[in-house]
Amino acid sequence: MNNNIKRIGVFTSGGDAPGMNAGIRAVVRTATYHGIEVVGIRRGYQGMIDNDFIELKTRSVANIIQLGGTMLKTARCEEFRSVEGRTKAANNLRKRKIDGLVCIGGNGSYTGAMKLYEEHQIPTMGIPGTIDNDLFGTDFTIGYDTAINTAVDAIDKIRDTAGSHNRVFMVEVMGRDSGFIAMAVGISGGAEAIFIPEDTNEMELLLSHFKNASRRNKSFSIVVVAEGDRQGGALAIQEQLEKEFPDLDVRTTILGHIQRGGSPTARDRVLASQLGYEAVVGLLNGINSKAVGIVAGEVVHTDFIEAIGKSKNIEPRLIEMAKILSH
Ligand code: ATP
Repeated sequence: MNNNIKRIGVFTSGGDAPGMNAGIRAVVRTATYHGIEVVGIRRGYQGMIDNDFIELKTRSVANIIQLGGTMLKTARCEEFRSVEGRTKAANNLRKRKIDGLVCIGGNGSYTGAMKLYEEHQIPTMGIPGTIDNDLFGTDFTIGYDTAINTAVDAIDKIRDTAGSHNRVFMVEVMGRDSGFIAMAVGISGGAEAIFIPEDTNEMELLLSHFKNASRRNKSFSIVVVAEGDRQGGALAIQEQLEKEFPDLDVRTTILGHIQRGGSPTARDRVLASQLGYEAVVGLLNGINSKAVGIVAGEVVHTDFIEAIGKSKNIEPRLIEMAKILSH
């Protein structure tokens, strides 16, 4: 163990994701077990600049594992993008005698942490916290499992009300530039079509699907659309479908932020606990500027620069399979 570290800071940054609290809890409990003090930094980098710190003890993180959101709050902070902003943050950390950090966030947060180390030598370990699952260096990110379960639950409810004829239900899900959420939700929701940014011929397939009148007369169809899809989202696809097939009754539901909320699933709680634990163990062993992840069941540490620069791709076989199962 690297005995230089006596006191660490933990913060959540970027978009919130269910399971972040379980991650904070794991960081605090692992550190205190090893005799390391923990300071919670509220509102991410903004709180670092504003001196928004809170001492965290083992009991401070009791009864939060089941809660969505983040007890430390999160923020996006423009000031931290400047050298001056980071210097202010580093000075505040030094005043508080914080000699290591655990950052729960995404690519932007990792970039900030990397710069903080380059300029001020404050070591950080990163934990992937985003519902989008779009981070390299881990099979799953914290919050993804909860988000897809929330979206599938919504689709199941839409199915329940879908009694009438010729109706197409478009469901737009989150995911930013990636289709992980849409792919998982489309497969588990039994969708007829799944629009993701990674695959460009879905519109052609959907149009040819509905050219068959018997399919148009099916009682209902479900189409899942990733918000980052290149057609322009569910409403744009709805417009195209209605133009081609005026007899189709198309309804769109944009699920939006409900996908970010709610109590984390058991899977997200376990993942966040593992990653929180490993991040602290890594810091204490002198590992720095790396994101912790789990790939094929193994704990891996990926350099921030690699985690930020590389993209994680959806398995092409999964896309192929989804097309076959929905035909
Ligand atoms: P999410 O995936 O939820 O968007 P993220 O961590 O990628 O999470 P960002 O908003 O991109 O979210 O970044 C969070 C914060 O990290 C920013 O508000 C900013 O303070 C800091 N940050 C991002 N990019 C940089 C950068 N290039 N240099 C310094 N700090 C940065």
